[in-house]
Amino acid sequence: MTSSSNTSHEEQIKEMNKEANAMGFDSIGHYMAEFQKNVKKMANLQRDGAKMAGVLKTCRKCQSVGEKRCTGCFMVWYCGRDCQSQDWVNHKGDCKKTRKNYEEVELLEMGKGYATAISLDQKKGCDFHHGIRTGPKAAQFVVKVQIALDGSDGMLVYNKDRDVQYTISYKSSLGKKIKNQIENNFMSIPKGYFYSIIRDGKNYINPQILPPETW
Ligand SMILES: [Zn+2]
Ligand SMILES: [Zn+2]
Repeated sequence: MTSSSNTSHEEQIKEMNKEANAMGFDSIGHYMAEFQKNVKKMANLQRDGAKMAGVLKTCRKCQSVGEKRCTGCFMVWYCGRDCQSQDWVNHKGDCKKTRKNYEEVELLEMGKGYATAISLDQKKGCDFHHGIRTGPKAAQFVVKVQIALDGSDGMLVYNKDRDVQYTISYKSSLGKKIKNQIENNFMSIPKGYFYSIIRDGKNYINPQILPPETW
């Protein structure tokens, strides 16, 4: 690194600290920490709102609490098999359409340094093959997609069990759709939740954003 770029980096930090001070924070680090806390709070609020609106886990047929996702599209909920089979005649068309929206994930090739930077604490050093740890528990799950805060390419994708994790590019067809969905989210939080399935060792994601989760 040249000394001039060092200087400009230091100046940038100084400038950011000044702005943070003007807003009543000790430093840009303090500001970022508060910002992250608020992001979490907003996600929780948004989730509570979704719950109240009854859009989370409501059986499509009888409106009671649905704990099971449709086994075709995974995007609608049922309380059990009976309601799902009774509702099939109504849901069949949408189900087929939704299934077509799942797109195969193109994994982003990364340098070693970047892979280390994003490795997630608990599962560090796990053997991931095509973004899937040997023997993931489930073949379908919600994934969290995070946009890099520094604007660099590569969105981090992982599931709650952390046995699936990889990065995808904004430039891929699926990556573009997912990024748009996250950015159009009214909270403009740089992350979103999506449904993903694994078929024949390949990852597929439905680029329709889901209500936020708490993890
Ligand atoms: Zn039901
Ligand atoms: Zn369905």
